[in-house]
Amino acid sequence: MNTRRDFLQKLTASFLVLNLPGQVSASTTDLIGQSYDGPTLRVAIMGLGSYGRRVAEAMQFCKNAKVVGVISGTPAKVSEWQTKYNIPSGNCYNYENFDAIKNNPDIDAVYVITPNALHRDQVIRVANAGKHVICEKPMGLNAKEGQVMIDACKKANVKLLVGYRMHFEPNTLDIVNQRSQGEFGEILSFEGTAGFTIGDPNQWRLNKALAGGGALMDVGIYAINAARYMVGQEPIWVTAQETKTNPTKFKEGVDETIQFQFGFPNGALATCVSSYNISNLDRFLVNGQKGFAELRPAFGYGPIKARTHKGELNYPHAPHQIAQMDEMAAIIFANKKPIIPVDGEEGLKDLKIIDAIYLAVKTGKKVALKS
Ligand code: NAD
Repeated sequence: MNTRRDFLQKLTASFLVLNLPGQVSASTTDLIGQSYDGPTLRVAIMGLGSYGRRVAEAMQFCKNAKVVGVISGTPAKVSEWQTKYNIPSGNCYNYENFDAIKNNPDIDAVYVITPNALHRDQVIRVANAGKHVICEKPMGLNAKEGQVMIDACKKANVKLLVGYRMHFEPNTLDIVNQRSQGEFGEILSFEGTAGFTIGDPNQWRLNKALAGGGALMDVGIYAINAARYMVGQEPIWVTAQETKTNPTKFKEGVDETIQFQFGFPNGALATCVSSYNISNLDRFLVNGQKGFAELRPAFGYGPIKARTHKGELNYPHAPHQIAQMDEMAAIIFANKKPIIPVDGEEGLKDLKIIDAIYLAVKTGKKVALKS
């Protein structure tokens, strides 16, 4: 088994390579397990918005994954992407005709990067077309949707992964690794804050029908997810309170700020805040009986900064999606098990907790979580 030092050396070496000017490859596959030498994952991006662009830019530096297709409702964007990424016309689809991807042997997977409320049906259609699916967070609007998506992908015999980029981020992985090796002792507390001041009141993120909720769905999910992987247990109860200062901007069903708390089986507590009206909330802190780890910034595009009771971690920065997509190739083609899962079941766990938080806000009561 790898020692922590091996783990850190491999991690650092790979990211150093990645950071050298002019160097573009350097996968992180060999630093978080076996190296992967299988086929390249040929990906079509669905939804050419701001995050779709970010993913495609990063993927130019991938060793194991490549953008080969697009699905978009805007012809001008399609031609721009065709030129930029050398995408043949036969790999370009729109939202009406993309089921025909079924007959395209040059595409292995579709990465769904559209507004949250569209994920369920789009994922199901991709699965029915026989392609693997990577779906952005939140995977669906609620646990019921998540389960339907998992079932559809199982039935179609394709993999369903969620775009949890932090699950491949080196500072995060180092802390998870240290925690699982007992470096912090028994974990008793987690604090997570995730928020920013949202702008344009007309964007889909503030439209319940497209977003499914507010800040909790969009950024609170990072704190929920991190509470689970940093504590290393599943919460057994949830309490939550909502604060709304601007009901004109944050309409019914779109949460502005929610404060939520979890209890874990060993008695550990998590206290978290998600907000669309507080700037620079981007911090995770895990405390154990022997030590602590803090990430701040914790989940933005980076550089992520981390320290523990022993001092700072200093990993060179690389766009998170490079490692994410290289690792996803290995997960899809070689059944690689990532340190922190990114499968549909992982997405579903977060959706169950989101459901419970909204129920706790509505009822004012403590909500028990079933595992
Ligand atoms: P965006 O508004 O920038 O892009 C959304 C894209 O979907 C646009 O190209 C838009 O044209 C397209 N679209 C298709 N049908 C649409 C419809 N009916 N209404 C509105 N747009 C439609 O949004 P984004 O920031 O790229 O977010 C997309 C998804 O990615 C969301 O699920 C979001 O949570 C997720 N996301 C994840 C990260 C991350 O770090 N993992 C970061 C940002 C966004």
